[in-house]
Amino acid sequence: MQARRQNGVPGIILDCRDHGEADKIVTFFCQEKGRLTGIAKGAHRSKKRFVNGLELFSMVLLNYSQRTRDRLAIVNEVELLNSFITVRHDYGAYQAASAIREIVLGATGEQMVEDDFFQLTLWGFHALDSGKDTLTVLALFVIKMFACIGYRPVLESCQGCGTPYRSNGAAMFSPAAGGLICSRCKSSHHGWQLSGAAIGAATSVQRQPLPLLTRVSLTTDLSRQLLSSFYPYARYLLQRDIVSWKALI
Ligand SMILES: [Zn+2]
Repeated sequence: MQARRQNGVPGIILDCRDHGEADKIVTFFCQEKGRLTGIAKGAHRSKKRFVNGLELFSMVLLNYSQRTRDRLAIVNEVELLNSFITVRHDYGAYQAASAIREIVLGATGEQMVEDDFFQLTLWGFHALDSGKDTLTVLALFVIKMFACIGYRPVLESCQGCGTPYRSNGAAMFSPAAGGLICSRCKSSHHGWQLSGAAIGAATSVQRQPLPLLTRVSLTTDLSRQLLSSFYPYARYLLQRDIVSWKALI
């Protein structure tokens, strides 16, 4: 059977490691394809096919072949589209990009098409590369990410009794219920307190369409608070620590 050859799929490199003397195993997060892992044969020798393209966090046009979906893809060639140079050279941006990378690797399955999530990830890399405040970018990414993977935190009403959340005050957030719990329902749920400011900011970010996200600015305090408040929810959903996110809070 002839391997199916794909002519150029945009993708971001999320993992790249040596495989033997000559090859590399590369994981991409691709538009319309999802997460895809492939082997780049002779990657160390062939400058022609992979011109500086096989580096972590590079956005490339990927040309690959794959006999069947359960077989490792063969990376034929990549063309570098954007090396996100600021992300490489600015430590804060690099840390935030590492957290995004870890989240995407933890939250996606091999070749599960998740285009909203891909677009959000691409937005995150562009925003970091443009010099936008790194904690703000990560906080915005995280709030939007939950919706992309189907677990948008419900902040409008109590997930126990349905009472709308009206006050600006703190409320309990239950990871198992995926949303707020009012004071009357508190005893039958486990969770932690979210401040009124975190609930307000997260609600407003949830309503922003992706193209307008770049205009949102958050104070460092608020970004940090959002990242701390929602870390346990991500930890609960992904069932693992996200080391580079944890290091930032
Ligand atoms: Zn309730």
